[in-house]
Amino acid sequence: MRLETLAIHAGGEADGATGAVAPPIHLSTTFEHGPAAERLAGYEYQREGNPTNDRLRQAIAALEGGEVALTFASGMAAASNLLESLPPGTRIAIPDDCYTGVRLLASEFLPARGIEATTLDMADSEAVRAACAKGLDLLWLETPSNPLMKVCDIAALAGIAHAQGALVVCDNTFASPALQRPLALGADIVMHSTTKYFGGHSDVLGGALAFARADETFQRVAHRLHVTGAVLAPFSAWLTLRGCRSLPARMAMHCANARRVADFLAAQPQVRQVNYPGLATHPGHAVAARQMRDFGGMLSVQLHGGRDAVLAMAGALRLFTNATSLGGCESLVEHRASVEGNHPTSPQDLLRISVGLEHPDDLVSDLEQALRAA
Ligand code: PLP
Repeated sequence: MRLETLAIHAGGEADGATGAVAPPIHLSTTFEHGPAAERLAGYEYQREGNPTNDRLRQAIAALEGGEVALTFASGMAAASNLLESLPPGTRIAIPDDCYTGVRLLASEFLPARGIEATTLDMADSEAVRAACAKGLDLLWLETPSNPLMKVCDIAALAGIAHAQGALVVCDNTFASPALQRPLALGADIVMHSTTKYFGGHSDVLGGALAFARADETFQRVAHRLHVTGAVLAPFSAWLTLRGCRSLPARMAMHCANARRVADFLAAQPQVRQVNYPGLATHPGHAVAARQMRDFGGMLSVQLHGGRDAVLAMAGALRLFTNATSLGGCESLVEHRASVEGNHPTSPQDLLRISVGLEHPDDLVSDLEQALRAA
């Protein structure tokens, strides 16, 4: 089945008890069992399993082409459950440009668990090859990356990592499976903040892991999730499942709008650089064109006038809202350096843009008037 069809039907069979076409939300925390705890209908307690969550897990596994998926209370709960389930002594590498939360997890929390993290430029395959040869157990990829939109070659890096016996995990939040399927390119596990494009309406927090195989790593993470409890609530699972249904359709429009915005910004004299893999000038354009169906709804822009100019532009926008997060219907901007705490890694002259589903002419007009303030 093709992706658009899977997005509509995966985890979507009519309710067995009532025939309801839209799935029911099962809020029950507990399920009747026999006197010796025999499960009567496969469920026991909400933290260990829930029918609404199971539908979403089936849908995410199908969309990512994995054997199984797990859902979590947030994207960071997915990342931390996976990384903290690794045995002490595990050596991991994360990208030099990646979501701040993953960077903080690697620097502040993993060392205490005996997990050592190094940082690599994942766009430089030779640097990754050298690091793998020295000894790495897990390669964490994020492509396109947040917020520099760096692109790495998933298939090439998976080949390099697997030759040394290392696992490959890919944060696929920016692309979504509608545009990029890392498991088909050789990754072992895909991670998502489903808060973003999966949910699609800026109203539900969640995370997911899709596993190529229901193997020992999957069992370890599933067990850790059940015990530590960062599970997705049934209503959140239901909202995210609803988001799956329109994911490919929304992504097509996000991509078309982002291209318009990127082309417009790239032609403006105040603009030093537009980071969008769809532009032929982007260093990762060729790789992105090969491994992505389209280039996504995220981009970042850097202005000649530096921090002051970028903040003036952000303050003058009327349609784009200054807010964190991404992937919703409404367009958002964020000066990432201002939200990254005491040691920001994002350039001060950079504004991240999540291009929404408004009419592109309106988006361009708003950017045009805001740039006059820059
Ligand atoms: N990965 C990426 C690329 C993100 O942008 C985010 C959040 O912005 C996360 C992971 C973390 O997800 P959550 O906020 O759902 O915990």
